[in-house]
Amino acid sequence: MTSSHPIEATGLVKRYGEKVALGGIDIAVPAGTVTAVLGPNGAGKTTAVRILTTLSQADEGQATVAGFDVATHPTEVRRRIGLAAQDATIDPLLTGFENLVMICELHQMKRSEAKARANVLLEEFSLSDAGGRVTGGYSGGMRRRLDLAATLVADPQVLFLDEPTTGLDPRARNELWAVLDLLVGRGTTILLTTQYLEEADRLSDDIVVIDHGRIIAQGDARSLKRQVGGDNIGVIVLDPDRLEDAASVLSRVTGSQALVDAPNRSAVAPTSEGVAGLADVARALADAGIEAEDLGLRQPTLDEVFLTLTGLPILEDDDARATEVAR
Ligand code: ATP
Repeated sequence: MTSSHPIEATGLVKRYGEKVALGGIDIAVPAGTVTAVLGPNGAGKTTAVRILTTLSQADEGQATVAGFDVATHPTEVRRRIGLAAQDATIDPLLTGFENLVMICELHQMKRSEAKARANVLLEEFSLSDAGGRVTGGYSGGMRRRLDLAATLVADPQVLFLDEPTTGLDPRARNELWAVLDLLVGRGTTILLTTQYLEEADRLSDDIVVIDHGRIIAQGDARSLKRQVGGDNIGVIVLDPDRLEDAASVLSRVTGSQALVDAPNRSAVAPTSEGVAGLADVARALADAGIEAEDLGLRQPTLDEVFLTLTGLPILEDDDARATEVAR
């Protein structure tokens, strides 16, 4: 590996019997940056993280983390990384403080050093007040923050976060994002997995979109959106009875099928013409006597990007996807 890429993997393949969980994945995360591996349930995200954190062996391919080969030097890798897995590892019967002290001691710190480190971490993760309470009574957001604090005990250079905010409410999610900003500011190299496009957009420099164990797109949020095409023109009509007419106008002017969202009185269609296309639509709507409450040009959301790339919405559940794929 090159020192500028603390996480580097090429051609990772992992099979479980007939099932190909990873079908040949390349990942390179430059130092001090955040890469998000984005994909729906079962895409292969956890499998990739398990290989990179030495918990599982790839069937094919090669990976180095923090300068060491994960297959041949797992101990060296483990010493230099932190992993916040999906199932938090904290003990519900101990207090937040006791949990952290225990983990510090597992890292061979002396008791006094362990206590000092635990206090610093509680402070940093806004858990000082809760530090003396047993963690069984913590909220989901507090548990995730404590879990993240625990992964930072040894001050790792490289951090892996497997779906760090799944199951958290928006407020807890925002709090966790703020903590992650802090880590990014310190230059930690991070690979996180997520099912949330907004999270990938918010936190990462680079996004790797995977589906069925393969990379289907890669880039920052902007370039992903560009890969899928240009902007969208969206119209919200004043009179719901004119929505279908407005959609016809949109389809005709843009040359693409407009999507109708009746409850929101809106229709949307992609355009490659930018502002000129918008002006054409405005004129055509006026000519047809259709009043718009809102008319605008906007980039597609990452949800729309995912839909275009895979033909399926990102949060579709496994069964629905399986049915879809089998068709
Ligand atoms: P999730 O968001 O649900 O965690 P994921 O993207 O992390 O999904 P993985 O857990 O990596 O997906 O799983 C990828 C595929 O490999 C899935 O189809 C899963 O069922 C399968 N798989 C994972 N682990 C095993 C295992 N130990 N034995 C058999 N199949 C497995």
